[in-house]
Amino acid sequence: MIYVQPELPYEESALEPIISQRTVYFHYGVHEKTYIDNLNAQIKDTRFENMELEEIIRESSGPLFNNASQAWNHIFYFFSLNPGAGGEPSGELRKAIDRDFGSFEKFKEDFVKAGTSLFGSGWVWLSADADGKLFITAEGNAGNPLTKGLTPLLTFDVWEHAYYLDYQNRRAEALTRLWDLVDWDVVESRYF
Ligand code: MN
Repeated sequence: MIYVQPELPYEESALEPIISQRTVYFHYGVHEKTYIDNLNAQIKDTRFENMELEEIIRESSGPLFNNASQAWNHIFYFFSLNPGAGGEPSGELRKAIDRDFGSFEKFKEDFVKAGTSLFGSGWVWLSADADGKLFITAEGNAGNPLTKGLTPLLTFDVWEHAYYLDYQNRRAEALTRLWDLVDWDVVESRYF
């Protein structure tokens, strides 16, 4: 199987001014393309060749895990964003956020804090366990909650390449501004 990078459902410049066209181009057009190219090269003629990407992430380690997980994580991240989105979650997900974090405001604060406190590169995640309980976790490098048996719902990329061109070292500001791009309809659709 050859993994093909999906085209974003919006223009490269559509997330401005929160994420610049230049960042979307380098981040999705260059970095993400490289992870997918590396993944395809690494699975060729191996037992991983016909696996679903989620299965490769659960079964691999080392360089293959890094490229497979980074390939998956970036698609998950960029497809959670949408110009003109933002607002607040509703339905069962909103109830679970209020139940597990106290309020939507408190959830956003805890999520940004977890992403800001992660030393070095990685991702901050909102995930659910099999009972629907929600968790915020920060994962270093290519880390993904799929490897812990959790269902990922939302992620923010905290690698410097995600924000450095637009925000330099201001990671907390870069993460906080992303709330205005989160498409809660997409996130809610991942919750059962
Ligand atoms: Mn990235």
